[in-house]
Amino acid sequence: METIHTAEAKALVELQKRDTAIDALAAGVAGVPVKVAGLNAVFEAKKRSMGAAREALQALQVKKKNVELKIAEADEGIRKHQRDLNLVKDNNAFKALLTEIETDKKNKDDLETEELVLLEEIDKAAVQDRLMQAEVKKTEEFKNSEISVLEAAGREAAEKLAAAKNERAAAAAALNPDLLERYESLRANRGGLAVAAAHEEPHTGKLSCGGCHMSLTPQKTLDVKKADTLTFCQDCRCLLYLEKTIFGEKPKEQAEG
Ligand SMILES: [Zn+2]
Repeated sequence: METIHTAEAKALVELQKRDTAIDALAAGVAGVPVKVAGLNAVFEAKKRSMGAAREALQALQVKKKNVELKIAEADEGIRKHQRDLNLVKDNNAFKALLTEIETDKKNKDDLETEELVLLEEIDKAAVQDRLMQAEVKKTEEFKNSEISVLEAAGREAAEKLAAAKNERAAAAAALNPDLLERYESLRANRGGLAVAAAHEEPHTGKLSCGGCHMSLTPQKTLDVKKADTLTFCQDCRCLLYLEKTIFGEKPKEQAEG
């Protein structure tokens, strides 16, 4: 069959408009938990970075502690060897002690240099640590406010969806059951779009399918302009209608909306 002639053409087009709106509302409602999960994932990733920055800082602080202990040990060694200097009588032993003291001092110098480098690194790591803390706090505040906006919008959409579904059920119940069944099966097979508006090129008046955008054949162009008539697109097989045939002519500026 190439066309459906029915006094319910307008009601069917309106049903499609309701269903399209319902699908959009349902997608909006379903999108909320996905968006919330996305925001939470960004926040968790930031928190992990913050944890890593804190660990890096703590590792440097542990290193510094160890270096300080070694410096204290080196000091202790120097003091001990200096005490020993006063006790030895043998010249060779005296020289050996002096060498040990030199080694300890050199060792202590190296450790102090290492400590300075570590102090610089700790300063940088502490800055990074504070930055990360602030960033996580900011991300959390942003996330929480976004989520509350999303959830409020989700609740509103869910309410609208429930109301739209009720209205839709009433509108569907008023239709001829056979027509409704054809519509439902078309919708199921065509990703939700059973009925599409034919698009009219403003200058040429040429018509194309609102579903697949292919130009209508001359016969289809005639059919779609008939009152109470829906015609199948020759390409994608959706049911086509012409807005002005179904709903009457509109002023130009409203025609696009
Ligand atoms: Zn088409």
